[in-house]
Amino acid sequence: MIKDALRSRFRGALVGSAVGDALGAPVEGCTIEEVGSFYENGWELKSHYTDDTEMMIGVAESLIERHGFDGADMARKFIRNYHAWRHYGPGTRAVLKWLEAGEHWEVASKRVFNGEGSYGNGAAMRIAPIGLFYHDDVDTLWEIAHKASHITHSHVLGKEGAAIQAYSVALALRGQREGMLTCLGARIKEGIYRNKISKIERLMDADRELLIEELGNDEAAFNSVPTAIFSFLRFHSFYESVIYAISLGGDTDTIGAMTGAISGAYYGEEAIPQEWLTALAKAEDEGGKGLRYIEWLADELYRIKFNV
Ligand SMILES: [Mg+2]
Repeated sequence: MIKDALRSRFRGALVGSAVGDALGAPVEGCTIEEVGSFYENGWELKSHYTDDTEMMIGVAESLIERHGFDGADMARKFIRNYHAWRHYGPGTRAVLKWLEAGEHWEVASKRVFNGEGSYGNGAAMRIAPIGLFYHDDVDTLWEIAHKASHITHSHVLGKEGAAIQAYSVALALRGQREGMLTCLGARIKEGIYRNKISKIERLMDADRELLIEELGNDEAAFNSVPTAIFSFLRFHSFYESVIYAISLGGDTDTIGAMTGAISGAYYGEEAIPQEWLTALAKAEDEGGKGLRYIEWLADELYRIKFNV
């Protein structure tokens, strides 16, 4: 693959993730009907991105600064970037507080949910930079995705969900759309994910209600990561995949972010509608991190990865 196309796909994954997050944000927790009426006049991006993108930025910043995974540093980036108004979940908020108080990153996340750790999608939603950075080495990708997940989500199903999402981004980046489900099936260890991934092909003609019943649309990683993969595979454009993912309702910002990351990695940044990019750029006008900064992160990951 020519390098310029790959560079656009790096950008597409991160920018696509942010766009999906911001489009899903205003309808989080809504039903199919409520999402439909909110966007009845068109899919205009009017909201800020949420914790999904803020934490994805932290993952990328840490990989860039450390030239690879460093758990303590990544935890520091999450704490430094944290803004409560970006709607962090209660589990992640608690873990970040303990990390800030000095608890080790391998320990803090185990304290939530009666010591079992979270299997929410909070690690999968931010994992795209790891999918890019380790796209050519699946063993390492899998291991690092589990470790990066562990900082806040230490339940095995939370980590596996993050690894599946990271690998999906990597496969999309490599243009492996057709073989995606086979590759995922060969890697996944946890039964609940194997089962859902094996159903995707058969669900291509399902209506939204059945799809939600079979794959899910809530904040558990196993009820949202397969749904994002389905949303990518069901359509042939960035736009259609992302609006479909959000149209399902439920955990719309995160399912939107994960679908946007996979789709953006496959189609590249040029495939993302210009109006959505323009809206994302407004975050910078307001003094935050927006389109330009996220593009810069993608470019840096690319530069470090390929030594250019
Ligand atoms: Mg969110």
